[in-house]
Amino acid sequence: MREFTHMQAYTVKEASQNAARGGMVIAGGTDLLGTLKDEILPVYPSLIIDLKTIDGLDKIEEEGDSLLIGSMAKLADVAADDKVKKHCQALSEACNRVASPTIRNMATLGGNICQMHRCWYFRTPDDRFHCSRKGGSTCPAYMGDNRYHSIFGVQNGCIAASSHDTAPALIALGATIITSNREVLAEGFFAANGYRSCILEDGEIVTHVRVPKCKKSVFEKFALRRSIDFPIVNCAAALGSGGTIQVVMGGVFPAPLRLTAAEKAVEKGITEASAAKAGDDAMADASALSGNGYKIEIARAMVKRTLLRLEGQKA
Ligand SMILES: Cc1cc2nc3c(=O)[nH]c(=O)nc-3n(C[C@H](O)[C@H](O)[C@H](O)COP(=O)(O)OP(=O)(O)OC[C@H]3O[C@@H](n4cnc5c(N)ncnc54)[C@H](O)[C@@H]3O)c2cc1C
Repeated sequence: MREFTHMQAYTVKEASQNAARGGMVIAGGTDLLGTLKDEILPVYPSLIIDLKTIDGLDKIEEEGDSLLIGSMAKLADVAADDKVKKHCQALSEACNRVASPTIRNMATLGGNICQMHRCWYFRTPDDRFHCSRKGGSTCPAYMGDNRYHSIFGVQNGCIAASSHDTAPALIALGATIITSNREVLAEGFFAANGYRSCILEDGEIVTHVRVPKCKKSVFEKFALRRSIDFPIVNCAAALGSGGTIQVVMGGVFPAPLRLTAAEKAVEKGITEASAAKAGDDAMADASALSGNGYKIEIARAMVKRTLLRLEGQKA
């Protein structure tokens, strides 16, 4: 790890101004510290700005028909919160499936949605693979070991799969991400953006996430291990107002994907047959790389399983 200056920010403005001058913010540090130790970033930050000292950013509050969750709320606290369990069950379940209890007690919701991708070429120490996310001209995963990569093609030259567990739940629930200077629907927040996995610009900080209350929502995850592991595929479904169903999947594209074909397949109701059709239709345009064909079968089954669980849930 190289030397850097560490500052504690006391306001969002102070954090944001210093981040705009080339600093990087740290929340729980469970992702950022690994990237600093391995020196994977194209430019090593000389200033790390701690958000933990900003008062009130960890609150979880009711705000009319929504919950307002501070970006510094720990995943363990979001998972255990009674309001989240009652009104946004998919988010509670997603937070509960991230990594391990120790990590969930450090890691924050803001850090989870801003975490960098987990591609092993991107993450190889000392920039041994100067891939497209770091400004290079190629993506080594195309020709290399792509068993955990995208099955729906490329985004900004990258085929790493999105790995944030909370993202599909937030999108399915229709959440809004509130930053230091704008509000963006979660559906538009996640995108390959240089080394970032979201649309944040330099100096922009996530302050809150607003999640509409929802009567029924569920989250499912398939990982190789049931203890600490990133998703191979994860999936969330939520019942929207007017009876529509939103289905969103992670681990299959560089950003979480809204599965509109699956949503259409169940618009007249979820049955064993329509849920299976939703899985088939959602994967109709999937295209395997040399090593990840198995993900298509898992994703198909995950869509069906998630929808059947949603149907079985009490409103
Ligand atoms: C062993 C291990 C297992 C893991 N397993 C999973 C898993 O199963 N599922 C999963 O989703 N993730 C997993 N993670 C990834 C990650 O640790 C978590 O997603 C965690 O939620 C990150 O939160 P944090 O508060 O620690 O973020 P940090 O490490 O502090 O920050 C992560 C990134 O987000 C930026 N950032 C943080 N907060 C903000 C903010 N408010 N505004 C703007 N930018 C911000 C930081 O600058 C940094 O780039 C795992 C990590 C490890 C080490």
